[in-house]
Amino acid sequence: MDFAPYIRDIEDFPKPGVVFKDITPLLKNPFAFQKAGEALLGFTSNMKIDKVVGVDSRGFIFAPMLAEKLGAGFVTVRKSGKLPYKTISEPYDLEYGTGTLEIHSDAIEAGERVLVHDDVLATGGTARAVCKLVEKLGGEVVQCNFLIELTFLNGAEKIKEYQKEVLLQY
Ligand code: 5GP
Repeated sequence: MDFAPYIRDIEDFPKPGVVFKDITPLLKNPFAFQKAGEALLGFTSNMKIDKVVGVDSRGFIFAPMLAEKLGAGFVTVRKSGKLPYKTISEPYDLEYGTGTLEIHSDAIEAGERVLVHDDVLATGGTARAVCKLVEKLGGEVVQCNFLIELTFLNGAEKIKEYQKEVLLQY
């Protein structure tokens, strides 16, 4: 299925010069939403996954469904100050700003096989920081998957040591 018709360009969001890929038209369409979930799940067929990590905040839309279908646990990586328990953190650069990402220190056990999911791979700074958090806890990143990759931002280079799967490339 071609998901491109369900992705909308928003110019100058969240700041001037950025063309933001808006996934809400895909999410609100029952057929496209279901097919996108199935396609993401297809990327991990026959893979043993212990934890699915969803990235704050649009990574939380599909990651719990993937975890449930894969028989894995669901883990959140969040922007700083949002998680209630003990955390470890990792700084990251964004296409539009900088920040810190955090994960609960007990979210992943050493040796666990981890799928990282987010909506968009842009510069790769976010996904790279998430993979570092997983590895700091002793987890093994077995795949990073995304709805969209903005290839002109070269994010794939930042996560080249990991398997990457995407539904749509721009
Ligand atoms: P990166 O760290 O790869 O530069 O940025 C990826 C993160 O920023 C993801 O968490 C993603 O949600 C968000 N992001 C960056 N650009 C876009 C965009 O054009 N559309 C959407 N939906 N999210 C974006």
